[in-house]
Amino acid sequence: MLYLGAHLSVTHGYLAMAKEASAMGANTFAFFTRNPRGGKAKDLDLKDMDLFNKYIKEHKFGKLVAHAPYTLNAASATEKTREFAFITMKEDIERLELLPGNYYNFHPGSHVKQGSEKAVELIAGVLNETLFEGMTTTVLLETMAGKGTEVGRNFEEIKAIIDKVHLKSKIGVCLDTCHISDGGYDVANNLEGVLEEFDRVIGLDYLKALHINDSKNPMGSKKDRHEKIGEGHLGLDAFKNIINQPYLKTLPMILETPNDFEGYQKEIKLLRSMEI
Ligand code: FE
Ligand code: FE
Ligand code: ZN
Repeated sequence: MLYLGAHLSVTHGYLAMAKEASAMGANTFAFFTRNPRGGKAKDLDLKDMDLFNKYIKEHKFGKLVAHAPYTLNAASATEKTREFAFITMKEDIERLELLPGNYYNFHPGSHVKQGSEKAVELIAGVLNETLFEGMTTTVLLETMAGKGTEVGRNFEEIKAIIDKVHLKSKIGVCLDTCHISDGGYDVANNLEGVLEEFDRVIGLDYLKALHINDSKNPMGSKKDRHEKIGEGHLGLDAFKNIINQPYLKTLPMILETPNDFEGYQKEIKLLRSMEI
């Protein structure tokens, strides 16, 4: 059974979100732990979270992939911005511990003018302040397209961050297919080669989740514009390969394609129909 889902909104509560996932044929999903543009998280409804935990267990959901706010930049040259990243991650993880054993994905950040080496150090620094021994959440670094001064634009940069993190069992990687194609990895024609490279540079054990998106732009464009499955430069065959790849098919796969509820429902159905 594939674990497929989309990015959903927590506006109507956790249980409502899980039910929405089920209704679209999903058995995992992503959500923002707070308003995507930053700011204060909604007060927690523990009863709702409890019902949610029961629901996802009963319906045999895979691991969920929560997403940190886009505004978070652990690589910032400004201490105040890094402090915000730290506090946000710390609070988000505390909250996620009420939904034990899931993933928390974040964009490593942008180094602006500092260079990626310095950025790698700063990001690892924030992670080393945030991660703790007893946590059940695994924090995932998302592979980025390399737009502007984004860090995490290749496997080497992700690996450099992991190398500096002390609690390695609490860290993993979320591979975004649009981002890595835009970053110059040939997902469309050489998936096995890309995974071999991932294994050689980072280690496949660190790969915990996928963002499955087609791309509006050709390989290496560094643009980061998601497209619907099969309608972009990756094409439908690439996704057929992804969902049937023995290692990948065990991971939660999250759609971040430009779609509404019906669109996601269709894409999930389409992907499930391609499973061999
Ligand atoms: Fe993301
Ligand atoms: Fe993504
Ligand atoms: Zn993206």
